[in-house]
Amino acid sequence: MNEDTFKIAEGLISSNYIRQSQQAVQTRQRLFKTLISQRTMPEVGWSDQSIEIFLQQLSQMDTNNYIGNVGVGEREGRIYSSMVSSRHFGFAHGIGRSGDVSENQPKAAGSSLLLTLTNYLALHALKISGAEQTKKCLVVPIATGMSIALVLSALGAQHKKTHPNTPKPRFVLWFRIDQKSVLKCIQTAGYTPIVIENVENYNISQNEKNSSDQDAVCSNLTLLEKKVNEIGVENILCVLSTTSCFAPRLPDLVIPISKLCKKYGVAHVVNNAYGVQCEKTMKRISSAMTCGRLDAFIQSTDKNFMVPVGGAIIASSNVDFINTVAGTYAGRASMSPILDLFVTLLSMGVKQWKALLKERIELLPYFKEKINALCVKHQESLLYTESNTISFAMTMNSFGSDPTRIGSQLFYRCVSGPRVVNKHTKKRVVDIDFQGYGSHTNNYPHHYMTMACSIGIKREEIDEFVVILDKVLTKAT
Ligand SMILES: *Cc1c(COP(=O)(O)O)cnc(C)c1O
Repeated sequence: MNEDTFKIAEGLISSNYIRQSQQAVQTRQRLFKTLISQRTMPEVGWSDQSIEIFLQQLSQMDTNNYIGNVGVGEREGRIYSSMVSSRHFGFAHGIGRSGDVSENQPKAAGSSLLLTLTNYLALHALKISGAEQTKKCLVVPIATGMSIALVLSALGAQHKKTHPNTPKPRFVLWFRIDQKSVLKCIQTAGYTPIVIENVENYNISQNEKNSSDQDAVCSNLTLLEKKVNEIGVENILCVLSTTSCFAPRLPDLVIPISKLCKKYGVAHVVNNAYGVQCEKTMKRISSAMTCGRLDAFIQSTDKNFMVPVGGAIIASSNVDFINTVAGTYAGRASMSPILDLFVTLLSMGVKQWKALLKERIELLPYFKEKINALCVKHQESLLYTESNTISFAMTMNSFGSDPTRIGSQLFYRCVSGPRVVNKHTKKRVVDIDFQGYGSHTNNYPHHYMTMACSIGIKREEIDEFVVILDKVLTKAT
């Protein structure tokens, strides 16, 4: 209702009441105005009602919701099922146009506005968690692996533009991490991975053994430099590093890697799958963007922001590169993962987002302490991998030749998440044979179980897990 309508309504019920309610409505309108003008997460999260009213106001800006709209095109945003329509708050046009996924959609001003705002809110969320040097980000409705494939394609497109007369580089130098999607995404994008094997018990930042990381597996920068020289800079599309991973692997040291990439003029892409929840990681990414070369970093929406699987955020300090990525996307795309993130960030607000980040980091030592006590009881040990600030692991050496059955027993008791790794596992992934698959290295000395203290975890879940694990381990010995 606008000013005029309120005025007329004063003839129907007491004008005092009208004026008071008009103020309440205006207060909410101011929230919307602040969001659109400041383009940041609200300090305090919005109520569901405010979010819903705002979504309804945006969706009525799309042609499929115009009163009396006549559609004679091939895509008119018609929705057969009212259940589907309400699941999407009436949004039906998706995002983007055939040539660019972030371009405004003429038939859908509301959707276009929502996408633009979501990109801003995501940027703000990344900055709050530590990556202050980020300049632009793009929320895409594809998960992390496929988003990295998109980034690799964009790097290829960029290379073609800047080096029109040289052959396309074919290789992606990839620090080994035993997770299949990224290796597959290199293949999907049409490039050949070169595996940089990790090293054990070696702290690169100090170039000496660091006892708090003595059981860790980490990336080998000396080997990276050697490979760059062997393969030749002109043949390398980029270096692909990883900042969130299961212990005993440590997050890659993106600052020295970025410096090396800058020195050689090689692009650098960071798989930051669930690293947004870790301030240390985000701050390192931020510094790497200023002191070295880091072209883009990619994070999952579900692993960091508590939304269903389906989206990722591609971010960079290089605005042009993000625009190239958006222009590389083929065709239009789904709005759903964007809408999920939009609603979530509005609902959380800065305060709750910070509280969730804080709660996680505070629960980590508690979780580790509890597991350590269990380790003592069952003659196992907590692995020293201090620099991994999300995941940690305990040895599983006294449960026979294949401790993975412990993992099955936990799953059977409704525990999801821990992974038991048999150090002898062999696996072939996209034509590459791996030894010790799961442990990120060929000859890890222990079988182990790895777990994560990830965003949203509750103290009670940790307590309950420890009780169940104790039971399972007691029964297994
Ligand atoms: C989740 C994850 C990915 C990507 O998986 P998607 O299913 O494509 O989102 C990549 N690397 C790591 C380390 C991950 O944890």
